[in-house]
Amino acid sequence: MRWDNLSLTESGHGRAADAALFDADAVTTRTFDTPEFRGITFHEVRARSILNRVPGASRMPFEWTVNPYRGCTHACVYCFARKTHGYLDLDTGLGFDTQIVVKVNAPELLRRQLASPRWQGDHIAMGTNVDCYQRAEGRYRLMPGILTALRDRANPFSILTKGTLILRDLDLLTQAARVTDVGISVSVGFTDPELWRTVEPGTPAPERRLEVVRTLSEHGIGCGVLMAPVIPFLGDHPAQLRETVRAIAASGATSVTPLVLHLRPGAREWFMAWLARRHPHLVGRYERLYAEGAYAPKWYQRRITRQVHELAEEYGIGPTRAQTRRRIRPPETAAPAAPEGTQLSFL
Ligand code: SF4
Repeated sequence: MRWDNLSLTESGHGRAADAALFDADAVTTRTFDTPEFRGITFHEVRARSILNRVPGASRMPFEWTVNPYRGCTHACVYCFARKTHGYLDLDTGLGFDTQIVVKVNAPELLRRQLASPRWQGDHIAMGTNVDCYQRAEGRYRLMPGILTALRDRANPFSILTKGTLILRDLDLLTQAARVTDVGISVSVGFTDPELWRTVEPGTPAPERRLEVVRTLSEHGIGCGVLMAPVIPFLGDHPAQLRETVRAIAASGATSVTPLVLHLRPGAREWFMAWLARRHPHLVGRYERLYAEGAYAPKWYQRRITRQVHELAEEYGIGPTRAQTRRRIRPPETAAPAAPEGTQLSFL
């Protein structure tokens, strides 16, 4: 495994001269014989840095990110973060779902870096690469320390997640929201149970994620929904869009923002192999729809956006509104690809 290359994918700088973020001899590999973690290998590392600066050219709506994990047991077939596993010589398919890198010193490191006189107190985005509330967090409990450090410095932050585990940290989130800007977004691209089971097999069910939205809202923490991904020909039927927007509105979400599936290299191969197994009759249609590259054509994206916005209006829920200074929002779909490790995922 090439730990020395992790610095390239974290920073996106692509400079071979970057210092390694981890010492290869500091990696501890563990497995746990519980049903929840069967078949999963954890690589515990002590990171040298936890605050990642997003290169200015990436056009991301945030400048700083914190990612305590690499790889994601939520195992979404379409996850574009898969490619970043390849930089460690780890498999980007099943390996991404089952070989999880854990930065065990993330909380203490963040506390130290936030206290540095050079730190300006900028907004920090989490869940921008992989889910910080994936199942591993239930065991490693890195987020409470991270949230405590942010709360103590009144440092603004946002979280994008599919994980219901975030409710474990409700008290900390509430405390942080009293002293700084806190933006939470939950990702729910569809509510179809069959689609969920096959395409997002490791995630909590969509209705459980919407329960998170409801609970946060009841505790005074506004929560938006990133309706992502809208999956062409499988999750984009008008009735499916209507049901999804209806459920999102009923959850008390402050906003709904649609984002059509994109298929970058790494994600594309894994998704298309899944499609060929599960829905072979759609392979040709996908090849035509994504013939130009990672994104569906603009006409298709506009159509979905218009439909979702019309439904949102009908159900009385607004489009995205800025809740924090640099809240997570989807990238411009026409924007050039951001460096690996810094792109917004479909979390
Ligand atoms: S899309 Fe998000 S939740 Fe799904 S596997 Fe990727 S990082 Fe995890």
